[in-house]
Amino acid sequence: MACGTHPKLPLSECRKPEKPTPIKGDPLNSILKDLCTTDSQARRRRLASHLAIAFPDRLRIEERTWDAGADSSETVNHLVTFGREGGHLVIGAHYDAVPESPGANDNGAAVIQLLTAAKLLQERVATGEPEPNVTFCFWDHEELFGSPCMGSKVFLENHRHTLPKKAVVFDVSGRGDFFVSGGDPAGLAPGLPSRPTPPSDNLILLRHGIPSTLVCALPAGEWSSQSPATWQTLHTKQDTPDRIETGTLERGAQLILDMVGRFRVA
Ligand SMILES: [Zn+2]
Repeated sequence: MACGTHPKLPLSECRKPEKPTPIKGDPLNSILKDLCTTDSQARRRRLASHLAIAFPDRLRIEERTWDAGADSSETVNHLVTFGREGGHLVIGAHYDAVPESPGANDNGAAVIQLLTAAKLLQERVATGEPEPNVTFCFWDHEELFGSPCMGSKVFLENHRHTLPKKAVVFDVSGRGDFFVSGGDPAGLAPGLPSRPTPPSDNLILLRHGIPSTLVCALPAGEWSSQSPATWQTLHTKQDTPDRIETGTLERGAQLILDMVGRFRVA
């Protein structure tokens, strides 16, 4: 049986989005606008500064420089860690964008979702909740897919002795009522509609044997479309912050916290 409001959705998959936890601190959209620059160095610098302000005791920045002839001169990953590493959960998103694109849905929105979830988690831990074993990874150079410079590849090499047990990757997740996945190997996103999704860092983790789920978002009318209109602006100058929906950012952050909770009790 189909849903009346969203005819393309089976009734079993059609739920009203959960009420998001109110977001405290910096308004999400102003940070998003700040990050959505076509200057890749500024993008990296500004992310580092927002993370350093929010997580002075948790942030680590891992850098690798490359010889001339590589796809990039450097790879810089930003990591925000709760608890211990090794057998932990990774929540990841790439922060780079293709040249000339402001990279709002790909992938500034996911960066905001991770940043927001990590802030909320930090607040909960500060009020006495047990600290889960979770690292939030802001990876460089996903847009150099396949290159050794990819941030997720460098991350796995740096952490080969403390690999995560599971991972969830957020990409193109800033617009629409529905979070979707291309399958849920990590087992932390039950009930998300499944559909083909763009390649992302989850594939790198899967190749290393780490069960990894990719989460994207789409408007209800597009979630089963072969080429969703929302994804037509990716890698273009039109991927701008005004197309991002604040409610989707808030629900994405809540979804991350739900997954962290599921991982903790699993
Ligand atoms: Zn992307």
